[in-house]
Amino acid sequence: MISRIDLRGSLPGDLRSVLPRAELDVEAALEKVRPICEDVRHHGAAAVREYTRRFDGVELERTRVPVEEIGRALAGLDPAVRDALEESIRRARKVHRDQRRTDVTTEVVPGGTVTERWIPVGRVGLYVPGGRAVYPSSVVMNVVPAQEAGVGSLAVTSPAQAEFGGLPHPTILAACALLGVDEVYAAGGAQAIAMFAYGTEECPRADLVTGPGNIWVAAAKRLLKGVIGIDSEAGPTEIAVLADRTADPVHVAADLISQAEHDVLAAAVLVTDSVELADAVEAELKIQTDRTRHTARITEALAGRQSGIVLVDDVEAGLKVVDAYAAEHLEIQTADAEAVAARVRNAGAIFVGAFAPVSLGDYLAGSNHVLPTGGCACHSSGLSVQSFLRGVHVVRYDETALADATARVVALAEAEDLPAHGAAMKARFDWEIPS
Ligand code: NAD
Repeated sequence: MISRIDLRGSLPGDLRSVLPRAELDVEAALEKVRPICEDVRHHGAAAVREYTRRFDGVELERTRVPVEEIGRALAGLDPAVRDALEESIRRARKVHRDQRRTDVTTEVVPGGTVTERWIPVGRVGLYVPGGRAVYPSSVVMNVVPAQEAGVGSLAVTSPAQAEFGGLPHPTILAACALLGVDEVYAAGGAQAIAMFAYGTEECPRADLVTGPGNIWVAAAKRLLKGVIGIDSEAGPTEIAVLADRTADPVHVAADLISQAEHDVLAAAVLVTDSVELADAVEAELKIQTDRTRHTARITEALAGRQSGIVLVDDVEAGLKVVDAYAAEHLEIQTADAEAVAARVRNAGAIFVGAFAPVSLGDYLAGSNHVLPTGGCACHSSGLSVQSFLRGVHVVRYDETALADATARVVALAEAEDLPAHGAAMKARFDWEIPS
């Protein structure tokens, strides 16, 4: 069911091209979401409701969820789920609060300072997926860093669910209630991203939209980037496991399946130098997939071209492979996992050793689960407090410090043929201003 790629012997120069990865045709999806976004731009909430009818099968009277529905969802929440969500929020808050950067002031010269001041984004739209699965955990992962950054205006959107009277899933609403979020919309897909980008009569426009989603969500974010700020494109989930013969095949298979469960396009990749482990994991995948609830979805994801077992000569070669792959989630299950993990350069998040499965990170590690996919982990970070802050340089120079800088500024301004720049300096000191 899962394919094998044998890279023993020597690794090809262009490693990426031989590694398993979904052919996610975001470019083709762009053409499909373009008219949706244009419609929302010109027709506002009516267009959002029309696409909700078309794609989610729900006739909405309004996209904004009444506040009392949010409270009602919390009242109906299973106590065990409530306890788990509260602990998830507590841990995520602890981690994200510690990671908020503080303002830094540097004295460049006597009398001249530059401060980097971190200012929260004014208004953010947070996307919580809700097509195949519902993700109350994504409410936590979006909202907590935004709140810890100090964002003043924060709105959540999630697809309307026909079986819940056109509201987002009640667990998502309950998670919003636990986090004190009362501005929630029942909208998904590209139309929800466009709603935040352009604003509608029901939803004021936002400065930034964050959160994971399917290909339509990713395409809309790519299309509207610039009209609105976006985080990384967090698309169909991926797990890569770098394991040697010391790894337990039952655990490795369980972890691969746990991410394949998200989506038929989800990727599960094992990189190992042990044929015995590869065989044992493959056998376990079959056993465990048959036993689990979403057998068909997982089977399709594991059999897809985005998933596979990659055989390498040794852990050293495995490190090169996982760096080239740049997985959203990377587990290290090798002897001396700590030392191996320390050498990884490209991954959205790294899970070290036998007792840090990705499932923990999805819900309760305290880390953020909104992470870059599709190889973007080589240039982008996951969602964090920083995603909701802008670093603004604040410049302060006194008269003496400015006088000391003037000759050099004038020299550089002349070199760029921008004499007015130099003149603006000289004007402060009664120097001759060139005609
Ligand atoms: P979703 O909310 O992303 O998408 C559902 C919406 O897609 C619907 O509301 C609908 O409007 C739109 N849609 C459906 N079919 C369409 C079509 N043919 N044309 C245009 N729009 C259409 O929910 P989902 O589908 O369950 O996807 C969630 C994704 O998020 C999964 O791929 C999952 O792996 C991923 N995910 C990623 C992370 C991460 O951090 N990378 C975290 C959680 C989830």
